[in-house]
Amino acid sequence: ATPTAIMVATGVGASHGVLVKGGDALERAESVDYVIFDKTGTLTQGKAVVTVAKIFSGMDLGDFLTIVASAEASSEHPLAKAIMEYAFHYHFNGKLESTAQKKEEIMAGWLLEATDFSAVPGKGVQCAINGKIVLVGNRSLLSENGIRIPQEAEVFLVNLEESAKTGILVAYDGAFVGLLGITDPLKREAAVVVEGLKKMGVKPVMLTGDNWRTARAVAKEVGVEDVRAEVMPAGKADVIRSLQKGGSKVAMVGDGINDSPALAAADVGMAIGAGTDIAVEAADYVLVRNNLEDVITAIDLSRKTFNRIR
Ligand code: ADP
Ligand code: MG
Repeated sequence: ATPTAIMVATGVGASHGVLVKGGDALERAESVDYVIFDKTGTLTQGKAVVTVAKIFSGMDLGDFLTIVASAEASSEHPLAKAIMEYAFHYHFNGKLESTAQKKEEIMAGWLLEATDFSAVPGKGVQCAINGKIVLVGNRSLLSENGIRIPQEAEVFLVNLEESAKTGILVAYDGAFVGLLGITDPLKREAAVVVEGLKKMGVKPVMLTGDNWRTARAVAKEVGVEDVRAEVMPAGKADVIRSLQKGGSKVAMVGDGINDSPALAAADVGMAIGAGTDIAVEAADYVLVRNNLEDVITAIDLSRKTFNRIR
């Protein structure tokens, strides 16, 4: 392709919100064998919603939600925001109009003090409330702290996961108390884009830190056969490198802080949406419209510019 052709393609991309950082990046998109999608916030809307909270102990539901929200208050994770919202509505729905108070003020007066907070990447959060240790997260967070999940809760959890929901488990003072089910709907264009890539001869892959059962259920809905689940944030780039070792060219599409090393390791990194600054920095492409169709637009544009339409 001539420098002019590359300039024109870059301009065409930009007019669609597909920003490419230079001619090399534009050329590399032409030959990708795999497109790896992060699940949360990339294939899904990233707008998690709690659909159920269930207690498996004597604890009162209101107390349970207060404790969980207090533990999540310091977390930046999208799941934390969903949990806070749910707890807030449980306590204050209907009472908000009658008070002139702002949501933040109400929250501040209602949450319990959490000390020794730590985020455990890919697993959840840990803190102390009322002098008791509180754990909120996945199976592996609880099991590595020696918390046993009762059989009845395990059955409930498996059911949630098989219907594509993420189960968040809660332990208080060394014992399991209950769980929350969270759903994060697919983006409306996700399945069409996955199908489109297959038709172009590109293999779609889904990559996530979420558990295998939820991941498989989401992958099935969206039409992806190749799933890599329970991948810790640090392991995402390794998944890409292992595909590259086999001689494949790999594109990675992601949105979060966790995805930056993977975006950088990929032959073509695509940051979707406003994303985080750090993800945008690590990427070759920025897809500003937050629409997965632009992954296809980017590959198409590259193929047309370099005249190697397959
Ligand atoms: P993803 O790859 O889908 O973005 P993460 O690596 O961020 O997932 O998280 C993996 C899993 O760890 C989540 O599905 C959840 O079970 C658990 N987790 C992470 N952060 C939190 C949190 N703040 N509260 C509860 N659970 C969490
Ligand atoms: Mg993430």
